[in-house]
Amino acid sequence: MTVVVFLYFAVGFLLLLFLALLAVSSLIEKRPRAVVVCALLIIVVELVWFGCYFWLEPPFYILLVFLVALTGFILLFFMPLGESRPLKIGDIIQKVDERDIIFAREEYQPGTEKYEKYYDLRPENKDIDDRMRRFPELLQPGGRFFDPVGSPQIDAVFDEIEKLTFEVDGEIAERRVEVKPDKITRQIKGMVLEQGATAVGVAKLNPMYVYSHVGRGPEPWGSPIVNSHRYAIMFALEMDYYQVETAPHLPITGESARQYLIGAEISIALAAYIRSLGYPAQAHIAGSNYQIMLPPVAQDAGLGELGRLGYLISPELGPRVRLGAVTTNLPLLTDKPITFGVQDFCEKCLKCADNCPSGAIPRGGRVNVRGVEKWPLTVEKCIHYWRHIGTDCGLCMKVCPFSHPPTLVHNIIRTGLRRSSFARAVSARGDDLFYGKKVSYERFSDME
Ligand code: SF4
Ligand code: SF4
Repeated sequence: MTVVVFLYFAVGFLLLLFLALLAVSSLIEKRPRAVVVCALLIIVVELVWFGCYFWLEPPFYILLVFLVALTGFILLFFMPLGESRPLKIGDIIQKVDERDIIFAREEYQPGTEKYEKYYDLRPENKDIDDRMRRFPELLQPGGRFFDPVGSPQIDAVFDEIEKLTFEVDGEIAERRVEVKPDKITRQIKGMVLEQGATAVGVAKLNPMYVYSHVGRGPEPWGSPIVNSHRYAIMFALEMDYYQVETAPHLPITGESARQYLIGAEISIALAAYIRSLGYPAQAHIAGSNYQIMLPPVAQDAGLGELGRLGYLISPELGPRVRLGAVTTNLPLLTDKPITFGVQDFCEKCLKCADNCPSGAIPRGGRVNVRGVEKWPLTVEKCIHYWRHIGTDCGLCMKVCPFSHPPTLVHNIIRTGLRRSSFARAVSARGDDLFYGKKVSYERFSDME
């Protein structure tokens, strides 16, 4: 066997191996369309590549042309190419008032003092919020996907989290244990990972990411939020891939609740541990007890980048994560923000915007919001849709190409995405080819 023939067959088998790996990855992901595309490509490659060997003599020229093209493709895919700039954060000019966030506004019931006070303060939000209130609250009867057995089960988990909001802070031990920042940072991170988090980082807490006034939770509504902690310990919990795949139906909401509960338990235990060492610490948990904006602080802690869909996108799991936080004055070593091509990829991709049933995700470029250049979500549209269907939707999380599980093939592709603008352009279109540009889900005409 000559070297040329050997090379010819080696290249053919490597191609088949890659496609077979992609097929296996798609089988693991339970994505039939991708399996079919892989099978078709395997047939085409086998026919063309090995057919050429038997029908055309000699195969040398084909091999040469193909190898040159393949080498060029691989180089373009993996070498540093094009811009991978991080999100532009300038001087943040104004804090966010928690009373304005949509989850707080959902709680203002007509006829109550809070309702009157809030819409006196922000009359511009009244009409749109009243429209939203025409639909039932999340997981309540009347939502399109309400299940009389399944929905209350998830609601019970959220109720449980609500009870934990009274345990986020507590007594600080009188005797302070002296700690070394490097050692205690390792200790804290190890504890969080042992409890089930998939990633953990530490950020210097930017005071502009602390809400200005209480909008939810046990603290008096409208009182100024005072949090002078220097650090935020941020962690991410993986949302189960198969549960996310069920979006926009009930199981994804069950998975959100499950991860929020785990996150609450981890952060409450961590904050209690830090207080036992003699340092102030507060857990920030779902169920209306966040004092800080989690996604930008998680970005500062190096857990990921903010994407077009408004969630944090982590390097390994994409937006398929829920976040937890503890703020503290315990002396810690901080992590640095990371960039891995999300901003550039989101400019090329648009898949979440194209699949969002409510039109909440913008298709255009980033705009400056209070000093941060980002894609502004129209949260009212999103929550309007949630209340209509009775779940927390999650279609954007489901379709995002970064949400694929970290199989070998996806990890190889992610390596390219981190470095090359060419890889990002090819992968955005490749994702459409293998997984489909649009997902199918029930559309309702009675949304307004
Ligand atoms: S959760 Fe659903 S409605 Fe909300 S932004 Fe994502 S896709 Fe759109
Ligand atoms: S779906 Fe595409 S555009 Fe949307 S966040 Fe994910 S990568 Fe960015």
